[in-house]
Amino acid sequence: MTTFRQRSSPTLRRCPRCKTVGRMYRSHSRNAFERFMKLFSPVLVLYRCHHCNWRGYMFRRFRSQSRFAFWMTLLGIATGSVAGVAVGWFLLVRFVELLLGR
Ligand SMILES: [Zn+2]
Repeated sequence: MTTFRQRSSPTLRRCPRCKTVGRMYRSHSRNAFERFMKLFSPVLVLYRCHHCNWRGYMFRRFRSQSRFAFWMTLLGIATGSVAGVAVGWFLLVRFVELLLGR
């Protein structure tokens, strides 16, 4: 699919649970949700820690990220896109109202 493939050597990521560096591996998707999440693989990647068996999503651009920072970033993205859609919808409605001459 893509020419960019993660080498099989461990990444220099830090595990959010046990803080071990270099034991994080890309994890394979196990269910429909995780296959769906592959749509976001350019930014969000599923990792597994071979040290403590922690498994979860991490942002590709951060080598280490606390779970709190992770969820805050996710919340920020979600809030941003919802706000973007809301503003877009509002402008569209105003535009249609203008066209209808109200
Ligand atoms: Zn770990």
